Amino acid sequence: MSRTQTTLKGNRCQCPACKEYFSTVSNFDRHRKTIDEKRICVSPESVGLEIKHGAAGTHWGMPGIAISTDSEEKEDEDSETQTLPNLQGTDNQ
Ligand SMILES: [Zn+2]
Repeated sequence: MSRTQTTLKGNRCQCPACKEYFSTVSNFDRHRKTIDEKRICVSPESVGLEIKHGAAGTHWGMPGIAISTDSEEKEDEDSETQTLPNLQGTDNQ
């Protein structure tokens, strides 16, 4: 079951095996491993990719990198650091 879903355009690609979407072919390639001469999918996060939320949906991409070859669609990066509300010290016996 895939965890990403987006519109295919630009450099986006979808793995035919696991149906995950990737920002670029090279990122797609990262999750494909050759084991015993068979090409298999590994979990994208195990090779350092993370789910990106773009305008058209979600896809796997490299964390924290603005991909210059991917300029057709601007990445919606959450660059703002959010201040967490104070955790309340409740009277917990
Ligand atoms: Zn795959």
